[in-house]
Amino acid sequence: MYKFAYIDKLPTKKSEKMWFGNHIHQTLKFILDDPYHLPTQAETIRFYAENFDKSFFSEEKTSQNYFENGLKIIESFYRKISEDTPNVVTTEDKFAIPMGEHTISGIFDRVDKIDEESFEIVDYKTGRVPDQRIVDRDLQLTLYDWAAKQKWPHLKNVKLSLYFLAPDLKLSTQREKKHHLELEKTVNQTADQINQQKFEPTPGPLCNYCDFAEFCPLMKEKFRKEKKQIDQIINQYLKFKAKELSANLESEKLKPHIHNYLDQTGAEKLFSDLGTISRQIIPYHQYDHKVVREILEPKGHWLDVTKIDNYKLKQILTELKLTPAEKEKIDKSKKLIRENKNLIAKFKKR
Ligand code: SF4
Repeated sequence: MYKFAYIDKLPTKKSEKMWFGNHIHQTLKFILDDPYHLPTQAETIRFYAENFDKSFFSEEKTSQNYFENGLKIIESFYRKISEDTPNVVTTEDKFAIPMGEHTISGIFDRVDKIDEESFEIVDYKTGRVPDQRIVDRDLQLTLYDWAAKQKWPHLKNVKLSLYFLAPDLKLSTQREKKHHLELEKTVNQTADQINQQKFEPTPGPLCNYCDFAEFCPLMKEKFRKEKKQIDQIINQYLKFKAKELSANLESEKLKPHIHNYLDQTGAEKLFSDLGTISRQIIPYHQYDHKVVREILEPKGHWLDVTKIDNYKLKQILTELKLTPAEKEKIDKSKKLIRENKNLIAKFKKR
């Protein structure tokens, strides 16, 4: 997505949802611009209604639904704020803060002062409420925590809250130093990938709403209108895979009966009119690393029997703080030996 948006600069489609979210943010900013002199409820509703651009919506009915939902959100928010006005430090506050050789930028929707050493960062959401575990791991909130502690170094505590406006529900969490280190690692890795022009598609639920789907190798075939011979092959392949899948499930159910029979009779091969089934027992052993090394290393054969575990190496490389030269050296030592091309079939839910 990054490549399509920021390098290829492909235009984004207008999104009713995004426009609506933005308009709600602007209205909330209008309410809290000067928390010591709140506008009246009538002024707030006038601001919301006069700036609601109906022409942005494809259908009159959709625009009406959005307008009414937004009005409920604004009325409920206004009521809450006028009953208990928070000590607002800033709203819609842009930041751009250096992190090593990179700059992290973003916007705090709202920052409230709890006491001299504690602030609350409030991020407004108009979408669905997630599970608390997701909030506790949310990278955007880690970034806000880091940015707040850079911007206001006197802070000892930062409360991070996602404020879901439609059900009027706030989910809060906190971050520690270790989360900042993880964030830094992620930022560096992502920046490295951008510098190396490595833009692999990252499939996820957003693909279905992505503005660039018709250009993305992962999704572009979905938009092909013209029929091709491959369409028949795809259908045939999926039919065979479906049969294979259900046959595998059925045969797995029979396996325990066959093993039981072989165990009870002491036999290792079975016969029928259709063919035979033999049982092959493959033992797996693990050698004592130290003992083998002690004997093979002096004979110059230790390296012949050891190989680099790519998965572990990748993990260690992300954890170790290597210099850019070391990173480059390891990267250049990497050779592509072969590529396994697997086909993964997924079936539509019926
Ligand atoms: S379709 Fe999915 S993988 Fe492709 S650019 Fe969009 S979000 Fe990324």
